[in-house]
Amino acid sequence: MPEFVIPAPPTVSVPVVGGGAFPVRRVYCIGRNYAAHAVEMGHDPDREPPFFFQKNPDDLNPTGVFPYPAQSKDVHHEAEVAVFLKSGGTQIAIEDAMAHVYGYALCLDMTRRDLQGIAKKMGRPWEIGKAFHASAPVGPVHPAESVGPMDHGRISLKVNGTVKQDGDLNQMIWKVPEMISYLSDYYVLAPGDVILSGTPAGVGPVVPGDTLEISVDGLGSMTVSVT
Ligand code: MN
Repeated sequence: MPEFVIPAPPTVSVPVVGGGAFPVRRVYCIGRNYAAHAVEMGHDPDREPPFFFQKNPDDLNPTGVFPYPAQSKDVHHEAEVAVFLKSGGTQIAIEDAMAHVYGYALCLDMTRRDLQGIAKKMGRPWEIGKAFHASAPVGPVHPAESVGPMDHGRISLKVNGTVKQDGDLNQMIWKVPEMISYLSDYYVLAPGDVILSGTPAGVGPVVPGDTLEISVDGLGSMTVSVT
């Protein structure tokens, strides 16, 4: 071990249902992975290969509280399922991909939509809209051996008790094994990597005081307070 010249940053981790914690290495996020959401964002879902951006590992936020971020007046909720990898590699075949999955969790890809919109218009990276402090509220990790492959099931999000997003995991354009395989063609995947699998239609703004509740069949529900 080198002798660190400042205190080493802590390893980010997410609690696991049944005990222990999942240590996080990287967070990849797919864009526009449900057709109806691609359409609501102004794109044709039939003509696009998958694309990804990243959040920072320490943007994962298991606290149940989402502090409204600085420098935005239009922060949106995106209800998603996070996929946690126990192993990785390169050029992973689609048929081998599921063997790398440790488990799944409820997750919100909170987005500074106004800043993302400016970045899109200017041809700039999305990080300023996506990868900010506490921007990925996350529930506990459910091991795949207890919940199965999570390839179908209702995904929904309520704001203050009103359903805003409502879809099914089987509506993903790029399925979980396809995402893993695709990412592994461009990156060296490794244990601890996390993939946010996209959001169904119905994204919209939140304000301080709101209560968000995401539910996915098999993963239960998670409540997040916007402060
Ligand atoms: Mn998203």
